[in-house]
Amino acid sequence: MNKDAVVVFSGGQDSTTCLYWAKHEFAKVYALCFSYGQKHSAEVAVAQSIAGEAGVLFRLIDLPFIGGLAHNSLTDTDMKMDDDVPQGGVPNTFVPGRNLFFLSIAAVVARELGAANIVTGVSQTDFSGYPDCRDNFIRSLNVTLNLAMESQFVIHTPLMWRDKRETWRMADELGVFDIVRERTLTCYNGVVGDGCGHCPACKLRRRGLEEYLKERGL
Ligand code: ZN
Repeated sequence: MNKDAVVVFSGGQDSTTCLYWAKHEFAKVYALCFSYGQKHSAEVAVAQSIAGEAGVLFRLIDLPFIGGLAHNSLTDTDMKMDDDVPQGGVPNTFVPGRNLFFLSIAAVVARELGAANIVTGVSQTDFSGYPDCRDNFIRSLNVTLNLAMESQFVIHTPLMWRDKRETWRMADELGVFDIVRERTLTCYNGVVGDGCGHCPACKLRRRGLEEYLKERGL
């Protein structure tokens, strides 16, 4: 296998930071984006444009069935999004199986390309209650994928132990702070850049940004 990498890419703050990190780390980088019935199809156009600007190859995989398998507020237009993690559960923005599907497909694509590296922007630090963002899940899946395909993939999670402030700092260190701030789409309501300001994703992103700007004395 070669030193190339496949990045699971959505065009949001985290995966865009990971995309640029991967460009520094690996020979050739492929951005793999998924369409899974998310309410905001704008996400795919944003991802494609960022990947183009970054000069990496972009591939879109259509997985329309994922959203329909289980009720969740990211794909169900009638469901109101949870603001917080409910007691003893996961928020209704959780799409069961999403990262499991995405990373499994990324591994198949990586195998086809001969790429040893898979990159995902999941983070346990700003844990949103999603079990498939945790380090133990990623490690377990890495072993499973290697066994499933008789390969030696390495799943990289550069943001696993970084909070949002540290993710902003990382983007700045990579020289892409403005691109990440202005071009990415993290907002659950589909507003690019600083977002709608009141959905859970915007609140988390903004809090980290404010902390980082303060740290920089801005
Ligand atoms: Zn928002």
